[in-house]
This record gives sequence, structure tokens and C-alpha cells, in this order.
Amino acid sequence: LPYQASSQRYDSMPYRRVGNSGVQFPALSLGLWHNFGEHDNFSNARAMLRTAFDLGITHFDLANNYGPPYGSAESNFGRIMTMDFAQHRDELFISSKAGYDMWPGPYGVGGSRKYLISSLDQSLKRMGLDYVDLFYHHCPDDETPIEETVGALDSLVRQGKALYVGISNYSAEQTRQALKLFNELGTPCLIHQVRYSMFDRAAEHQLMPLLDDKGVGLITFSPLAQGLLSDRYLNGIPTDSRAANSKSYLQQDSVSEHLRQIKQLHHLAQQRGQSLSQMALAWILEKPEVSSVLIGASSAQQLIDNVQAVDNLSFSGQELQTIEQILSQ
Ligand code: NDP
Repeated sequence: LPYQASSQRYDSMPYRRVGNSGVQFPALSLGLWHNFGEHDNFSNARAMLRTAFDLGITHFDLANNYGPPYGSAESNFGRIMTMDFAQHRDELFISSKAGYDMWPGPYGVGGSRKYLISSLDQSLKRMGLDYVDLFYHHCPDDETPIEETVGALDSLVRQGKALYVGISNYSAEQTRQALKLFNELGTPCLIHQVRYSMFDRAAEHQLMPLLDDKGVGLITFSPLAQGLLSDRYLNGIPTDSRAANSKSYLQQDSVSEHLRQIKQLHHLAQQRGQSLSQMALAWILEKPEVSSVLIGASSAQQLIDNVQAVDNLSFSGQELQTIEQILSQ
């Protein structure tokens, strides 16, 4: 059936300003790292994107190497753009990235001008787009002068191939250097994409205060610690879960390692009238410096469930303290 976007799609999703920029992101954004590749179910992928847009999720996050195989998430996304979203292009904020290994040889990995510019050209072809809204350097590269990487991102903006640029996985010190160079070139860095969840709080110490101070946006990836912070693993490891997939980065050991905390957090979430995943997302969104949380999903139903996190974003001091106690065990 042809897709008819919901007329209520902007009614309930809160939008938050990204740093000091003119752009707003939905409180929840959708990433296509898992479940959108060539080996995944295409109609499920399509249903997730339709559901996301109907729920007010206007930001979709990709990278050159999402799949598997590499590139296939962008190709599938391009097909779905043509089939369902062609008339909604200007309502969407689409990102891609380059940095990790993508194609063989010295020009398919890292932070060189050669790699970043050719990779974005490939991404645009796969997605069937004239430009992306946001292009990131996916991870720092110590072997490339940071001036070259930042200069390449600046060129892509001037060429009109990316409207905004960002960085991901940079340390606070690397971020400080990059921001200075971006500012000198007159191309502000829109946003930093950072791993952050109840189970991974490294960014709190230096990076988050730095971004806040500099007026740079912050989007947090793997906010559910890849699914650990949900009811997925309360009673074992389901065969269709990410932890059961031997090729995924989520190890089964992490489930047993965290199970006690997961159960206690689940209990607290229930007292708040939320699911654990809703509480884990709300706990991140409670921080005003967070522009958006970048979730993944394997079904449309998970998106529907997770979006309801925005119905209760406030925590009492006591609840926050209980969370700290559980996490410190
Ligand atoms: P999450 O922590 O949100 O994990 C998503 C997974 O959690 C889903 O695939 C699903 O796993 C499970 N899940 C989600 N909702 C529910 C629910 N309601 N109930 C039960 N289980 C649920 O994020 P991701 O790790 O997927 O990362 C999100 C995005 O962040 C990526 O798509 C990518 O865009 C970006 N990212 C960026 C990185 C970078 O280096 N910049 C690195 C990693 C991610 P299951 O399959 O088991 O159902």
C-alpha cells in the first residue's frame, strides 16, 4: 500500500534545540546500524521507518558501513526514501558518517580528505540523495592531522553535500582541538555523537560539560546499552535478540554481568509506571544538554514502546539516588 504519513506526526514528540544552532532534533532519533542491512527483513525495516516518522522521529542516522554488508543499510534506506518518503525529504534530517574501515586499501579508512570526500559521494549515491543534512567523522584518526579532517568536512559543507557536520567518538581533548579548527574555518560543528547510557557514563566527566560550554549539540548512542536496559533479558536470552547473535558487539557475558542491576532498575521503572527501556531513555533526556537520544530497534513495536518515554521525563531526587545506588553496586 502507498504510505500515507500520519497527520498527527508532530503532535506529541518534543523537539529539542541542538546546541546553539538553528536546528531542532526529536527527543528520540532512530539509528540504522542494526536490522536495516541486506540480510535483514526489508518489510520490517520499511515498517520501522514508517512508524518512526508517524511518531514524529524526523532524524535518521546512518553510516557508510552499516549493514552487513557495508553500504547495504544506506542502499535499503535509499529504496525506502524513494518508495515512501520522497515527498517528505525536507521534513527529514538524515545523517551519515565515515571513519571506520569501508573499502580495501589505504583510502577506505581513517580521516583523510581523500576518504571522507569519496565516501560521502558513495553514500549519496546509495541513498539517492543530493545532500545529507549531517555528515560525521565517525571516529578519531591519530595518523591524520586533525586540520585535514576538519578541512575536509568544511569543504563538504561548502560543496553543498552536507548541510552540517559533526564528530563522533572523539575524546574531550580531541573535541577541543577540532572545535577550535571548525570555528576558525567558519563551519561550526553541529553535534557530537557519543556513547552514553546508565551503563556507560564516561562522557559525563569531561565531554558533556565541554559540549555544553561550547554550545555544541549532543546525541547519545546505544542509550539502552544495545538492549540490556530493557525487559529483553529479564528471563534469559531470547533467540532473536542482539545478544544471541554471535556476530554482534553485544556479548552474552554482558547480560549476566548486569542482570542484577537490570532486575532492580526494572523494578524501579515499574514503580514509576514505565518500562525499563522508557526509564533508561527518560534518565538521559532528563539532562538538558542532551539534544536527542539515538535508539536502535528490531521492530516497530519497540519504537512505539520507546517513544512513550517522553510521557514521564522527570525524576524525584529519591529516584535518582536509587538509580545511583543500583548502578554503583
Ligand atoms: P540501543 O541501545 O537503543 O539498542 C537497540 C536495541 O535494543 C534494539 O535493536 C533491540 O535489540 C533492543 N530494544 C530496543 N527497544 C527495546 C524495547 N522496547 N524492548 C526490548 N528491547 C528493545 O541502540 P543501538 O546500540 O542500536 O544504537 C543506536 C544507534 O546509535 C545506531 O543505530 C547507530 O545509528 C548509532 N551508533 C553509533 C555509533 C558510533 O560509533 N557513532 C556506535 C553504535 C551505534 P534486539 O535486536 O535484541 O531486539
